[in-house]
Amino acid sequence: MLFTDLKLIEPILKALQTEGYTAPTPIQQQAIPYILQNRDLLGCAQTGTGKTAAFAIPTLQLLYNDRQKHKEQKSIKALVLTPTRELAIQIADSFTAYGKNTGLKNLVIFGGVSQNPQTDALKRGVDILIATPGRLLDLMNQGYISLQQLRILILDEADRMLDMGFVNDVKKIIAKVPAKRQTLFFSATMPKEIQHLADAILSNPARVEV
Ligand code: AMP
Repeated sequence: MLFTDLKLIEPILKALQTEGYTAPTPIQQQAIPYILQNRDLLGCAQTGTGKTAAFAIPTLQLLYNDRQKHKEQKSIKALVLTPTRELAIQIADSFTAYGKNTGLKNLVIFGGVSQNPQTDALKRGVDILIATPGRLLDLMNQGYISLQQLRILILDEADRMLDMGFVNDVKKIIAKVPAKRQTLFFSATMPKEIQHLADAILSNPARVEV
């Protein structure tokens, strides 16, 4: 199978070509069609499987198509929660690469650094926010971030977020996003606690495992 078999739009196909990608990985082959159909998704996949592109590519396509239809203002329409600064930066770099012909803007925020450049960037307008839970909650509580317009919520490495003690922060964030949304949930392992969290926040999810 090739990326051209996945009903992707030209701006994204072109960017993938630039990246040198031709064939989707198994998680991409399975996940992208479900996500493009607006399904919730439960993905069991490790790092290295191409899971970042599996959620980033269809998210970009859904937001791009929405923008063509509605000509909306900049507001946060997709949020990726991930446990570490390194992962957050990698994910943002992926959105930038695959989305470079879409005009969609992403921003990465994480703790341990000054918040001013992050809040300045937020004021300039962002479509896709990639965040670690602690800093996100902090900026939400200070009124810098509204998730009222959120359409797609992505949890990346949910098991690691749990291990790192972020579960309460994650729950507080999810309590503040619209109930009517698409949710994509990725975890390398599915222990009971993760399964419970997934059951609580997903609606009739498609399941993919690699
Ligand atoms: P991830 O599992 O998301 O951390 O991705 C692992 C690596 O695979 C990253 O360096 C990606 O740039 C690369 N990658 C993801 N999808 C593809 C693909 N379809 N073809 C070639 N490389 C890919």
